[in-house]
Amino acid sequence: MEIQPIVIGTAGHIDHGKSTLVKALTGIDPDRLKEEQERGMTIDLGFARFELPDGRRVGMVDVPGHERFIKNMVAGATGIDLVVLVVAADDGVMPQTREHLAIMQILGVARGLIALTKIDMVEPALVELAAEDVLAAVRGTFLEGAPILPLSAHTGAGLEAFKQELCRLALATPSRSDAGVFRMPVQRVFSAKGFGTVLTGIPVAGTVAVGDVLEVLPSGKRGKVRGIQAYQEAVARARAGHSTAINLADVSVEDVTRGNVLATPGFFRPTRMVAATLAALPGLARPLADRLAIRLHTGTAEAVGELVLLDCEELAPGASALVQLRLEEPVVCAPGDRYVLRLASPALTLGGGALLEESKHRLKRFKKFMLAELERAAEGLGSPRELLDVVLSRRAAGLASVDELAVEIKRAAPETALLLAELAGAGRVCALGTRGWIHAERLAHARELLARELERWFAENAHRSQVDVRDLRRLTGFEAGFLDALLEFEAAEKKLELKPGGLVRPLGRASTADPATEEAARAVLAALAQDPYQPPSPAELGAALKLPERRLRAVLELLIDRGEVQRVNPEILLTREHFEGARAAVVENCQEHGSLDIPSLRDRLGTSRKYLIPLLEHLDATGVTLRQGSTRVLRKR
Ligand code: GDP
Repeated sequence: MEIQPIVIGTAGHIDHGKSTLVKALTGIDPDRLKEEQERGMTIDLGFARFELPDGRRVGMVDVPGHERFIKNMVAGATGIDLVVLVVAADDGVMPQTREHLAIMQILGVARGLIALTKIDMVEPALVELAAEDVLAAVRGTFLEGAPILPLSAHTGAGLEAFKQELCRLALATPSRSDAGVFRMPVQRVFSAKGFGTVLTGIPVAGTVAVGDVLEVLPSGKRGKVRGIQAYQEAVARARAGHSTAINLADVSVEDVTRGNVLATPGFFRPTRMVAATLAALPGLARPLADRLAIRLHTGTAEAVGELVLLDCEELAPGASALVQLRLEEPVVCAPGDRYVLRLASPALTLGGGALLEESKHRLKRFKKFMLAELERAAEGLGSPRELLDVVLSRRAAGLASVDELAVEIKRAAPETALLLAELAGAGRVCALGTRGWIHAERLAHARELLARELERWFAENAHRSQVDVRDLRRLTGFEAGFLDALLEFEAAEKKLELKPGGLVRPLGRASTADPATEEAARAVLAALAQDPYQPPSPAELGAALKLPERRLRAVLELLIDRGEVQRVNPEILLTREHFEGARAAVVENCQEHGSLDIPSLRDRLGTSRKYLIPLLEHLDATGVTLRQGSTRVLRKR
């Protein structure tokens, strides 16, 4: 029968009757499961199955002990869809009742109901009082308005009504999504007879099939999935929200511990710093201080470290903040993961929230821009599209590939590509050719910066109409690949033209030269044309025309930009007219002789090898001719 992909969890003060209730509902004693496991009969642990009236099964997790509850609650947090809060009618609401409630609130558990147990032990009037007690305790939490069902596991009174209500809620609970990249925080690892290494847990995202390769983090050890069990039965696939046991080949028990993460390879990296939202519990005795020594619980992992308050001096009970958690051991997480924060010692629960990102560096406190971005990241957690939008806008420079982005948002590459296409359609992101993706705001920024630097450079070099791309690299500080992509984008937008030799010419830009420069330019052209294929070198030009070096350089740049002079190499400059003439002569010569005949070309141009060889090398380099051994032929177009 189908397994409903939701998990029901129990919570409440110790000895209030949680285990007894699970046994009464499922007929399974959680303690007996352990024995079965030890005898090798099952590899799935700690879960009882609860049958809905239509035969579908849901998993029920009962965790004995307060400390284990906290750890397992976090472990199952993304796993638990529905909670049964157990309150004994004779005791009423107790401190652990409140703490569990607060933790579930932090962890984002959204639904549940209340079992008022042990009604056989008290007067009906006291049951009423206990119910009122519960009503007051759940006010303002996700359980406000949830049904309260009095029952006795011993006499069976109220049990049927409770079961019906639980079924109704279970059916009304939306199935857990199995989108995203597969990831399972490891709850237990053991070696089972006939199975080898077995890892158990509740996958928080994605699916995995027998035969897939998974990675254990932080170690990075990989192994093939040999078998999967969900709710004590062999299945072909595991998915988010199912209590799962995975039998992994090539990985030994010593390679894995509780707190590790089992995931599709390549998407997760262990990190020691995370940015997060933090809500402080309302019941705290004093505000939380910056640099507090804390213990983070997320997934099945815990790590000690330091709390850094990013947007406040101290955090008052009941208030929220943006924080960075700096940890002593690495954790593996994804944006949106819930966590619980406790004091490093004693183990007092302080609050919790959602992890926003793996931080690449220490975040400075009170930085407006960074805080605004984290705020957006927090808002984007609900949807992968929003998250992608934020991730891309937070990338400081350069272009991102689909694969890089997939890793950041923890979604498979094809899904990431689809999300990018959607965002592009909405004008939020842009693809720069095939080179990669950039956020629309970042692109606008980069374009502005480029335009500003071009403006400035041409203001300082008024005689020029094109600029070397290497100068732009230096001026903008853009990385070469990104600048190239940006320039191609600007060219497609008809803002500029890309010229051979790494030159950039803004469109609609005319160089301006003073009359004296124009006159010098005319003199240079005349000097170059005198003996056009044996032209004077720049040094000779300068001497003959009495032009200082700087001035001559400016004049030559002007002529080259305008296309009136062609630079063959730093020493040889031809007028455009004669350069074209030489090219035509080479083409003609090749056509006539089948390949280039140098003596006849030399005679035709009236030049010598000293000029001819650099000219031919230039024509080779610009794709006119092709060198073949000792001869040259025309390059086919
Ligand atoms: P847990 O620590 O919350 O899991 O509590 P248990 O399920 O272990 O129950 C603690 C004690 O309360 C056990 O001795 C149970 O037999 C007893 N108990 C549980 N439910 C009921 C009930 O409805 N009526 C009575 N009289 N005792 C109960």
